[in-house]
Amino acid sequence: INESLAGALPAVREFISRPKQLFIGGRWVDAVSGKTFETHDPATGQVLTTVAHGETADIDKAVTAARKAFEGEWRLWTPAQRQRLLFRASETIRARADEFAQLESLDNGKSAAVALAVDVAWTAEIFAYYAGWATKIEGRTITPSVPWIPGSQWHAYTLREPIGVCGQIIPWNFPLVMAAFKIPAALACGNTIVLKPAEQTPLTALLLAEVLAEAGLPDGVLNVVTGFGDAGAAIAAHDDVDKVGFTGSTEVGKLILNAAGGNLKKVSLELGGKSPQIVYADADMDVAVPGTASGFLFNHGQTCTSGTRLLVEDRIFDEFTQGVAEVAKSSKIGPGMDPATQVGPLVSQVQQNRVTGYIEQGLADGARALAGGQRHAGTGYYVEPTVLVDVQNTFSVYREEIFGPVVVATPFNAEEGPRTAANDTMFGLAASIWTRDISKAHLTAREIQAGNVWINCHNAFDSALPFGGYKQSGWGRELGEGAIDLYTQTKTVNVAL
Ligand code: ADP
Repeated sequence: INESLAGALPAVREFISRPKQLFIGGRWVDAVSGKTFETHDPATGQVLTTVAHGETADIDKAVTAARKAFEGEWRLWTPAQRQRLLFRASETIRARADEFAQLESLDNGKSAAVALAVDVAWTAEIFAYYAGWATKIEGRTITPSVPWIPGSQWHAYTLREPIGVCGQIIPWNFPLVMAAFKIPAALACGNTIVLKPAEQTPLTALLLAEVLAEAGLPDGVLNVVTGFGDAGAAIAAHDDVDKVGFTGSTEVGKLILNAAGGNLKKVSLELGGKSPQIVYADADMDVAVPGTASGFLFNHGQTCTSGTRLLVEDRIFDEFTQGVAEVAKSSKIGPGMDPATQVGPLVSQVQQNRVTGYIEQGLADGARALAGGQRHAGTGYYVEPTVLVDVQNTFSVYREEIFGPVVVATPFNAEEGPRTAANDTMFGLAASIWTRDISKAHLTAREIQAGNVWINCHNAFDSALPFGGYKQSGWGRELGEGAIDLYTQTKTVNVAL
């Protein structure tokens, strides 16, 4: 037992000590090549366990299993049966919440306490939410007229049918929640799935597959292939995959789109962001200072909606940014398994180097750090929460998604307003607006080119709220009814009476 597992539950140790295989056709199997890869604990850099290394041949097997399942008994399941299955899974996730939370913390680095309160609790909620949807997916009845057949009578209706075999490729920042954004909606609609978790964080998806199998999901309806980008690319390019849903970088999103062109599979994408947090001088400082700090520190900044551009009205700029810098400096850095930790390690050394590289470049360009500015001493992939000012909109720290605990702050003046600066990005995922003036808040919300706007809060999500991006932040909406649209297709039936 390595030191990472010292505080872990027996069930978590037991899970980690078992071989981690691929889940294909209802069976746990090794990769065709027999290869495995290691997954690390970001708090120590130690190897946590090894996992089967799936590649193209394994994706082929998983797609075959998913196709067979789509043509099999699953087709005959009633919506009520799908509803019950998703509810059972939701209850099991709730019952085994501590186990999921610790596993997520060990694999990803995030706080186990936060994973319990946010990641795992929300995952259970999303399963329950889409359980409810399974029995409420409805078509329409339409009374058409066909003008060139005078006197004719017609009866038409629409059916909402599953799309078929869905490939789902997910990132490492919220491994379990990202699986929950995709799996339950697809199942509620009657699809089958080939899921590829991120190579950095494969573990909770495997536990979720166990839970769904125990809940009674037929063999092959959900297949999980752990592996790297090439396995994702094999899904995106596969001719027998009907839809691909991807969450990750904008760069890889574009590759997926191109690969999907071969058979014109349906595509949904949830990509990067460089989201503004707009603070007006009349904001409630007691709310806005900690609120915007948590807007870029939540999940150590490894959040696609992270509020990484702080746009502050010039009159309060110095005072406000000092306040945010104080919060950043006083955040407790430590391992995710320690309940006192506020900022954990980043997911990997690669990510630690990437983030510190951005910070160094920003400082070289002329930015000034009010807080942080370097990696944190000691083992583990830590980076100090960093607040940068004196930043130009041409700097890479201003333009590019960093995916770490780094915010850039720039002032705007009341006459011009924040609109131009807020929209000065290729991304359009999220934004927050901080003010006590309700008209100003709602008017600003209309001006922001982003799929999700928060007022006097940031990163406030719910399963019922559609989520997705404008501009280069994505295609389609997950959560809410949006995901039902993504995972169904409409058939029109017209009857000559
Ligand atoms: P990040 O930069 O945050 O790691 P990525 O977009 O690289 O995000 O990765 C998100 C997911 O996409 C991961 O599961 C990864 O393995 C997968 N992936 C990486 N490259 C490709 C690719 N070319 N095609 C399909 N999936 C890929």
